[in-house]
Amino acid sequence: MRSPILGYLDTVIEETAHISAGDVAGYIPELAAADPDRVAIALCTVNGTVYSSGDVDHRFSIQSMSKPFAYALAIEDHGLGAVLDNVGVEPSGEAFNELSLDPETGKPRNPMINAGAIATHALLKSDEESSVERMLKLFSQLTGRQIDIEEAVAASELGAGDRNLGLAHLLRAAGALAQEPGPAVEGYIRQCAASVTVRDLALMAATLANAGVQPETGEQVLRRQTTRQVLSVMASCGMYDAAGDWLSTVGIPAKSGVAGGIIGVLPGQIGVAVFSPRLDPHGNSARGIEMMKRLSEDLGLHLMDTGRPARSSLRETRTVIVEGQPATIYVLQGDLVLSSIESLVHEIIEHPPQTDLIIFDMSRVDEVHAVARRTSSDMATKLVEEGHQIILIDPDETVTDFQDSQGRPVERWSPHRLEQATEGPER
Ligand code: GLU
Repeated sequence: MRSPILGYLDTVIEETAHISAGDVAGYIPELAAADPDRVAIALCTVNGTVYSSGDVDHRFSIQSMSKPFAYALAIEDHGLGAVLDNVGVEPSGEAFNELSLDPETGKPRNPMINAGAIATHALLKSDEESSVERMLKLFSQLTGRQIDIEEAVAASELGAGDRNLGLAHLLRAAGALAQEPGPAVEGYIRQCAASVTVRDLALMAATLANAGVQPETGEQVLRRQTTRQVLSVMASCGMYDAAGDWLSTVGIPAKSGVAGGIIGVLPGQIGVAVFSPRLDPHGNSARGIEMMKRLSEDLGLHLMDTGRPARSSLRETRTVIVEGQPATIYVLQGDLVLSSIESLVHEIIEHPPQTDLIIFDMSRVDEVHAVARRTSSDMATKLVEEGHQIILIDPDETVTDFQDSQGRPVERWSPHRLEQATEGPER
């Protein structure tokens, strides 16, 4: 049976076929020769399932969609602080090829515009391997296949690279470029010429959605904190001077490239990629934007759409007899984040437990956010101070630092021990 999701992607392609506005990038001769009617779309879930439609095997150069990944590699190389010392995180509101330097710090405004991306590329470590080889290795880890450079595109852009070279000289003069302008621009242009398909891009985006873990191989390619930073900058600066319009209409972190690709990331859920070479005046794919708008609307991707409130973390409260003593059991579930743990706190405050013994059953809990750990730890401390005894059922050890007010670890039981000790419902 063909998946309805594939059918849906076909529909997005069909229903945007009338969009022929815009022009292919003219300033790089090799890109000017692209077939403007090519179109493709792919999405990849954090479980590693890829759906794609259209010219799915068509290869094109990654261009500026490489920038978030170069930024990620620079952060992995030097740590976030050192990278922030060199490149800012403020949207420039200007075109991608402007020299947007912060007047106060002299740093490029952000790593998504060319000036910031050239400075970022120049930061990459290159000891045994060159910075470009390292970028290709990263792309290959992210896509699960060997990624190479489209040499004709690289040569063509190098031949027409005066503007980027000019930016690099100005950066160097401002003390904002760690390398000589020539090699920095060449490295950056080769990074942009990596050859990819929409499937590759969807996997790359899905790795960002999946906290740095490549969903097919399970490899932790980037650290979680790194992906958080990259996604934040994509959200505010990814679509150049159209970033605000993008965030309010499509509502997900994204990055476009002048060959016609756009990637988008819904954190925790999916990575998407679209391709259509005609560009709007901002340098973003015109039909690509329309396809992304539809995906966002139809699949409910907008980050600010509050249609899905977090579930309560309190599944049920029971009173039972445990080892001959009445006990209140709170059964918790799902991810414990601020809004979900609040429901437990509220319940305990509004209906204080009537038994000395209190059992928190965390067998159904997936993850505990730091705020939930703090809040529940404070609450446990208060309950102990009021004379309660606390037992934790936490077979997966989702919480490891629960302590009472004297700093003693809270008693832990296995689910089996609880079952053996429980005599049955009391009420
Ligand atoms: N390599 C291109 C340039 O530097 C990337 C621009 C883009 O994709 O937006 O001009």
